[in-house]
Amino acid sequence: MLGAPGAGKGTQAERFARNRGVPKISTGDILREAVQAGTELGRTSKAIMDAGQLIGDDVMIAIVKERLARADASNGFVLDGFPRTVTQAVALDAMVKGGSPLVVVDIEVPEAALIERLTTRRICANCGWIAVPGLNAWARCGGPLVQRRDDNVEIVRERLRVYDRDTQPL
Ligand code: AMP
Repeated sequence: MLGAPGAGKGTQAERFARNRGVPKISTGDILREAVQAGTELGRTSKAIMDAGQLIGDDVMIAIVKERLARADASNGFVLDGFPRTVTQAVALDAMVKGGSPLVVVDIEVPEAALIERLTTRRICANCGWIAVPGLNAWARCGGPLVQRRDDNVEIVRERLRVYDRDTQPL
């Protein structure tokens, strides 16, 4: 799934994955879980994520390579948040070489709508459900709705700049 932050990659990826019975692999979720768990990956990633910047390609490529090698991804997968740079895309091509062709979905949303969505959405602290006001502002599992640390307006603008610079070329 390609698209700017707030385009709806996570929401659509979850639907695709559920309909096809394959795992949704969200690199943002993997990193947030690492931060939560206080692992080495989490400790080194937290400040970078809070600043709206990207984690290094080598780290991200290693994470996805390891994840795609697990049994549940053998019949397909939906990637959400990866690749985010041309280097990551080239590495992904090499990882899936010889397998079925990748399907790329690119979601385009006007920037004003992205900023509105990102700064008003809330995430369930338990299950990651994305709650958008006026659409689905409840938690699927009943957990507490919280704001992502990087969903404030200054960081959102930085994330959109990073998207234009590093991900748009994809
Ligand atoms: P997301 O939940 O996809 O918006 O990702 C949240 C944050 O995690 C991003 O702003 C980056 O700091 C980091 N991140 C997630 N996926 C990647 C990736 N493929 N490459 C680099 N950084 C990533």
